[in-house]
Amino acid sequence: MLKYPYIRITDTEELFKRLETEGGRILAGGTDLMLKIKHGMARPKAVYDISGIERLCHITEDKGGLYIGAAVKLRDIVNDPKIKEHAPLLSKFAEEIGSMEVRSMGTIGGNLCASRANCGVCFLPGCRAMTADRTVLPCRNSAYADLLLPLVAYGASVKIESASSSRTVSVKDFFAGSGKIDLKPQELLSEVIVPKESKEAKFGVAELRQPVKMGFPYISVIAEAKAENFNITVGGSTDKIYTFENVKSGEEGCTCAGAGFLEALRLSKEYRKEVLASVIREAIEKCGQETLK
Ligand SMILES: Cc1cc2nc3c(=O)[nH]c(=O)nc-3n(C[C@H](O)[C@H](O)[C@H](O)COP(=O)(O)OP(=O)(O)OC[C@H]3O[C@@H](n4cnc5c(N)ncnc54)[C@H](O)[C@@H]3O)c2cc1C
Repeated sequence: MLKYPYIRITDTEELFKRLETEGGRILAGGTDLMLKIKHGMARPKAVYDISGIERLCHITEDKGGLYIGAAVKLRDIVNDPKIKEHAPLLSKFAEEIGSMEVRSMGTIGGNLCASRANCGVCFLPGCRAMTADRTVLPCRNSAYADLLLPLVAYGASVKIESASSSRTVSVKDFFAGSGKIDLKPQELLSEVIVPKESKEAKFGVAELRQPVKMGFPYISVIAEAKAENFNITVGGSTDKIYTFENVKSGEEGCTCAGAGFLEALRLSKEYRKEVLASVIREAIEKCGQETLK
């Protein structure tokens, strides 16, 4: 059995020092990392629990944006009135993550840093991560973190800190695709900065998700009406998050022809490629029709 120290950290200085000198992994809610440790996909020297660091647990706002600490629970992303009012897409997507138990433990920072998380589909019959001799391979079935899509659509950014540096990166650049993120082992994602949705903004969301609850997001689309045209953000089990600007209604098919998909259980890549244009069309049609607030 793998043995490793569990250390509860109360301030970021101590965390940075330990990450620099001793190595080890950050533990936030543990809903992804503990599963990976259990199945031998991660073998940390130590785990540093950041859930008690106060400066990572805030949700504040100013004129331009919302500032969300990395250790804020998904449950609070769903329910916080400031987020519901100024970034309702974020609440909507958080509500779809896993179950109540997962949302009560999982955090926004963990969601972005897990990027290709184990989705709960894993380890069930047919899972390609589990071989016949029960060896566990890196998960190939899981889509990317659900919060990436609304954060990219909003043009959000993340603050990343270490013992010697602090930088801010757009969520789009943070997520390089194919499960890779712009984060070094000694770095902490400390805050997510989300521009406030304007009162005039018109968004529409359409998804191919099965089952609807605790389901797998095969295709997720956010459309934003911009004068006559639309800005489109596409994710789910795609090979990266795609953004298409100034798309004309009726030209969705040509626009998204180059989008690539990951392998996934049940629905083939070819099928998802075929139906992507109609999911985009649905998102466009929904623009401004439903209020998410
Ligand atoms: C049954 C089940 C269903 C799930 N369903 C979904 C789903 O529908 N959609 C979805 O997106 N995810 C899903 N997940 C995956 C996961 O629970 C979520 O992505 C969750 O948000 C992860 O957050 P966490 O705080 O638990 O991360 P942790 O497990 O604590 O950490 C995940 C990874 O991120 C790193 N990390 C965490 N916080 C930071 C930080 N602040 N800075 C730097 N590194 C950090 C850790 O070292 C680890 O590598 C599911 C998981 C389970 C078990």
